[in-house]
Amino acid sequence: MGKKHTYKPESLMMSYGFKPSLSEGAIKSPIFLTSTFVFETAEEGKAFFEVAYGLRAKRKREKVGLIYSRINNPDLEILEDRLTLWDDADDCAVFESGMAAISTVMLEFLKPGDLLFYSTPVYGGTDHFIHQFLSKIGIHTAAFKPGLSRAEMESIIDKTGFGDRLAMIYLETPANPTNALIDISCCKKIADTYSTPDKPVRLAVDNTYMGPIWQHPLKHGADFSIYSATKYIGGHSDLIAGACCGNNEVIGRLKTLRTFLGNMASPHTGWLLMRSLETLKVRMQQQTLNAQKVAAFLNSHPKVEKVYYPGLIPEGTREYEIFKKQCSAPGAMISFDVKGGEAEAFRFIDALKMIKLAVSLGGTESLVEHPATMTHAGLDPAYRLELSVTEKLVRISVGIEHHDDIIWDIGQALELV
Ligand SMILES: *Cc1c(COP(=O)(O)O)cnc(C)c1O
Repeated sequence: MGKKHTYKPESLMMSYGFKPSLSEGAIKSPIFLTSTFVFETAEEGKAFFEVAYGLRAKRKREKVGLIYSRINNPDLEILEDRLTLWDDADDCAVFESGMAAISTVMLEFLKPGDLLFYSTPVYGGTDHFIHQFLSKIGIHTAAFKPGLSRAEMESIIDKTGFGDRLAMIYLETPANPTNALIDISCCKKIADTYSTPDKPVRLAVDNTYMGPIWQHPLKHGADFSIYSATKYIGGHSDLIAGACCGNNEVIGRLKTLRTFLGNMASPHTGWLLMRSLETLKVRMQQQTLNAQKVAAFLNSHPKVEKVYYPGLIPEGTREYEIFKKQCSAPGAMISFDVKGGEAEAFRFIDALKMIKLAVSLGGTESLVEHPATMTHAGLDPAYRLELSVTEKLVRISVGIEHHDDIIWDIGQALELV
């Protein structure tokens, strides 16, 4: 008898959760383009609905039966099983977009009168949902900036006067676009401090920038590891999707709400994401390798004032400690200040030949954008400056092209500034 071997996630991305014998021996999962599924018996249909509608808990080893593609579909189920492996999560729910994942988490775990405490900067869509929608339904919100101590964060919560109603701490780390890091386990301690037996404070982390390869928020105490799967997980700039990993209790609740909001991903998107997962680790490894070289080049360039990249955080600082604790590599998102302002930043961007000007990130191709006038244009200008999102800041998502070509392109464009 051989010893039981535990495979690494990257080895399981090609086959995990899929039985060829159920699909005519196909090596890859077909796209199950079907709206509904046939039950063997009426008893079986009844049992499937009891679980799907949360009328009773799932029995041990009971599988949720296939019912209807708004509730579940083989492409989504196999994909969800594979996504749990990276975060070592019980379960995962996939959505039609990253925003659908984020808004569904907030709608399920916050109710009017509750307090949401969240880090800034956050993704523009998340910021809009918090300010324009959550405030409209009577949810209190309080923001904090990176770099605060636990005592400083708790003091912000207390000053709202709603500390006893704190229901969720929401983080984005590294923060887009400045790569500022927030200490997840420190926020877990805050969540525990404000939790009561009947009101747990949930900790949610948007893990789009580093995950699911370089950072695993659940290991540091988070309840949710949330993704815009549009970015690294999808990786080819050809789809929109989202995902959330967590324990059985929270993901069960999310899937129930997803059933009624109807914001699940389509079978076709699920299938595309499965294809993407096979190369996720090699893509992210190459992108990170390229980014380290690009960051070093920028850091020594006379027309660059400052580079914001986790791989360049000086040792001995508090940020370096956080980086070492929660990230296993510096990732492939770089921001930097060009010497000058908007004109110089635009001159650089417009002079690039290979690197395209577009928002989004994490795809195989390198992309550049100008946060102050594009992704973060909606932020209050004074607050934006406090977060270092100035006119001279440029953001680059480093792709899998040859790093010599990426660096050549950046170098020739900087010459023209
Ligand atoms: C893109 C992005 C989102 C939103 O995801 P969509 O798939 O576009 O809905 C959320 N958070 C971060 C950090 C993102 O980059």
